[in-house]
Parts: sequence; C-alpha cells; structure tokens
Amino acid sequence: MRGNITIDPLACATAVANPQIREVRSLKSGQILEARRFIESVRYDRLVQVRSQIKQAMDAGSPRVACAICGTAVYIVSSPDKAFFFRIGSRTVPARPRPATA
Ligand SMILES: [Zn+2]
Repeated sequence: MRGNITIDPLACATAVANPQIREVRSLKSGQILEARRFIESVRYDRLVQVRSQIKQAMDAGSPRVACAICGTAVYIVSSPDKAFFFRIGSRTVPARPRPATA
C-alpha cells in the first residue's frame, strides 16, 4: 500500500535521520557528498526528478552516484513517511578508468 502523506512540492526534501549510507561519491565530479546534505539541499519535487535520473542511469549501466566507502552504485529511495535515503544498487560500478580531465 502506498502512503497518503501529502508533501508540499516546494518544500525541501527530508532525509532520514540516521541513514545507513552516510556519504556518497559523485561519479561525475569524484566529489564526496554527505548523503543527508545532498538530499536536503534540493526541493522535494526536484529530488523526485533526480531520484529517477539516478535510478535510470544506474539501470543503464552508467551510475552517477556510488557509496563513498565501498564504491557500489547507489540510488535514492524514500521511506513511507517520505524521508529519503541512499540504498546500495544491485549492480556494481564498472571498473573502467575515469577519462582524464584537463
Ligand atoms: Zn558501501
């Protein structure tokens, strides 16, 4: 059953208080990001878009975000009360070399 909690789409997204994955790495920039800060820095409606983009990219074999500790691709899920967190994806990050940046 889906929850019926109404969220103001213009409000900022909420992260779960104690996520299992506390830090993630952007596979584009290589930057380590704090998971809660990443989630709570964007609006709810925007995060819903980002969440599906991240999931689609991961399913297509080019994940955008990985666990900062083990390097496995992660995606965003939400709890029944609409708090977001990162979860380890089923696919592993391809071990291909990063293109050199100028
Ligand atoms: Zn990990």
